[in-house]
Amino acid sequence: MKVGTGRLRRRLDKYGVRYTLVKGWDSPAIDPYGGKNDMQGILLHHTAGRDSLNYICHTNPYAPVRAAHFLIARNGMVYVCSGSGAYHAGRGGPWRINKSTVIPKDSGNSRLYGIEIESLGTSPRIDGTPAGMTVEQVISTALLCVALLDAMRPGPVLYGVDRVIRHRDWTSRKIDVQQALPWWRDVIRLALDYRKDPKAAETAIRRYVRDHPKGQA
Ligand SMILES: [Zn+2]
Repeated sequence: MKVGTGRLRRRLDKYGVRYTLVKGWDSPAIDPYGGKNDMQGILLHHTAGRDSLNYICHTNPYAPVRAAHFLIARNGMVYVCSGSGAYHAGRGGPWRINKSTVIPKDSGNSRLYGIEIESLGTSPRIDGTPAGMTVEQVISTALLCVALLDAMRPGPVLYGVDRVIRHRDWTSRKIDVQQALPWWRDVIRLALDYRKDPKAAETAIRRYVRDHPKGQA
């Protein structure tokens, strides 16, 4: 469904997401789809770099269009780069989410939220090294996914973790992210289960990551 910037922001607040709005995040000037998005799912990426905020928002080849909707910084801060369109998925798909929902080939950008997690992406470990990720990034990604799963639903039924995949699941051209998909879905499911209490969600996710530090479920 179409998700506007107001609805998106209300969901971020509702689920305790710690975020910073990047200037221009809600401007029509950065939206290649003229407000006509049809959000259905979520793609997880890693940046393969450091300090990627400026690239995503301002210096990528398609700027002022942004290269992702969100950036998860090393300390877990969620930077909201775009509340509308972004170029992050590229060629790939189709992705059959369920019987009635398919993301058509090469059309993920207007239908999938892109979350970039700051990491060199050379290790799947959640060990705080630049090669891997920090546990704060995992917690923030999970809480953000809950907010988005709620924002995208047209009816009373909350969307599930089957709406989340990795960039490498969308296209064989990409290797991000390194952790197993069932591992990410476990983490996001914990955030969903504890969605009324973000602190409890954080505790549960920390425990899960401690028991599964290599990104394998
Ligand atoms: Zn990617």
